[in-house]
Amino acid sequence: MRKIAIYGKGGIGKSTTTQNTVAGLAEVGKKVKIVGCDPKADSTRLLLGGMAQKTVLDTLRLEGEDIDIDDIVRVGYGGVRCVESGGPEPGVGCAGRGIITSINLLEQLGAWDEKYQIDYTFYDVLGDVVCGGFAMPIREGKAEEIYIVVSGEMMAMYAANNICKGVKKYAEAGVVRLGGLICNSRKVDNEREMIEELAKRLGTKMIYFIPRDNMVQKAEINRKTVIEFEPAHQQANEYRALAKAIDENELFVIPTPLPMEELEELLIDFGLAS
Ligand code: ADP
Ligand code: MG
Repeated sequence: MRKIAIYGKGGIGKSTTTQNTVAGLAEVGKKVKIVGCDPKADSTRLLLGGMAQKTVLDTLRLEGEDIDIDDIVRVGYGGVRCVESGGPEPGVGCAGRGIITSINLLEQLGAWDEKYQIDYTFYDVLGDVVCGGFAMPIREGKAEEIYIVVSGEMMAMYAANNICKGVKKYAEAGVVRLGGLICNSRKVDNEREMIEELAKRLGTKMIYFIPRDNMVQKAEINRKTVIEFEPAHQQANEYRALAKAIDENELFVIPTPLPMEELEELLIDFGLAS
C-alpha cells in the first residue's frame, strides 16, 4: 500500500486536489482511503456528495471508545473509504494531538485491515508547517510519500520550502520521502518555469501543473469532484493525468530546502523576468 500525505499552505487547494486525484485513481480501479486531518473536516465532502460525515473525534466525544468502524468510515465515489479525524472543541485542546488520537483509534479499529486490499491511503493535512501533531502522518511511517501543493505565489512557495525543512528532518530519521511538488496554478507569470526551478532546487520535480479552472468551483458547489460532475471536461483529464503521474512516480527524495535569500532570488528572477 502506498501511503501518501498532502501538505501545502492553507487555501492552496490540498483538499480539492486530493479528492479529484483520488477520484482519478478510483476510476482506474485503485482502492483508496482518505484520512482528513484538518479540524475543518472538509477533506472528503466532494467524494461523499456532501453527505454528513461524523468525525472520529466527535464520535469519540459522543459515544466513547466503543466505536463501530462503519460509523466513522463512509464509502464515497468510486468506493473510496473516507474518514475525517475532526478537531477538538474550538479553543480547547490541540488540533494536532487530536489527529494522533484519531489515527491511533483507526488503527485499533482495523480501518487499515488487509481485507480491504487498499492500494492507496491519502492524508490531507492542514498546515503550512510540519510541526507537532500535524507531522503525525509522517512520523512512525504512517505516510511515506509527501506531495506539496504549491503555486507561484510567494507565500505558497515559502510554505513549500518550510514544509521541506520538516520533511527533511523526518526523512533523515525514517522512511518518509518527498515525491514532488504539485503546482496548482494561480495564473502567476512564469509560474510553470518558476515551480519547475523551485522543485529542481529542492531536489525533486514538479510532478504536475494543474491549470486554474472555474469548473472546479462549479463541481464544488454541486458537492462533487470534477471527475464525477463533468467527466468529459478538460479539467477532469488534468486530474486523471496527475493521478497517473503519482501512480507511476519513482522519484522519492530527501528534500534540500533553500535558504531564505535563495528563495527570494528565485522569485525576483522569475517574477521580474516577465
Ligand atoms: P486547502 O485544502 O489547501 O485549504 P481547498 O482545496 O479547500 O484548499 O481549496 C480552496 C479553494 O480553491 C476551493 O474553493 C477550490 O474550489 C479552489 N480551487 C482549488 N484548486 C483549484 C483550481 N485548480 N481551479 C480553480 N479553483 C480551485
Ligand atoms: Mg483543506
